[in-house]
Amino acid sequence: MSKISDELRQKVAKTAKYRCGYCLMPQSIIPMLLEIEHILAQAKGGTDDESNLWLACGACNSHKHAKTHGFDVSTNQEVKLFNPRLQIWEEHFEFNSRTGEIIGKTVCGRATVEALRMNEEQAVKARIIWVIAGWYPPKD
Ligand SMILES: [Zn+2]
Repeated sequence: MSKISDELRQKVAKTAKYRCGYCLMPQSIIPMLLEIEHILAQAKGGTDDESNLWLACGACNSHKHAKTHGFDVSTNQEVKLFNPRLQIWEEHFEFNSRTGEIIGKTVCGRATVEALRMNEEQAVKARIIWVIAGWYPPKD
C-alpha cells in the first residue's frame, strides 16, 4: 500500500483544482473524497512521487485501474491514456451539455473516454443535473 502524506495529498488536490483529472467531477458536489490516483499505476512501477499523482473520482480511477493505454475504434489504434498532469483537458475532450457526454476530440481523448467508461448512464444523467444546477463543467 502506498503512503501518501496528508500534506502531499493536499498539494496534489490543489494542483488538480479539486476535480477529477478525467471527467472533471468537482470535489465540492460529491460527498466522498476524490482519490489520489497514480498516473502510472503502482502495479506498472508507478511511484508515490508527486509527479505521478493526480486526483480522480472513484469511477474513473476504478475503470482506469492499471491501464496505461486505451483503444480508439475510429482509427483502430492503441494509444497512451490521457495524462492530466502533462496534457490539457480541453485539447482532448469536450463536454456536450445537452447530452451530458464527454466527447474525445483526439485519438487519446477517445481512447480515454472509452477505457474509463466516462459516459456510463449514471454519470451522464448526473452531469445533466449538475449543468442545470450550474455546477458543471467546473469553471477555472
Ligand atoms: Zn472522473
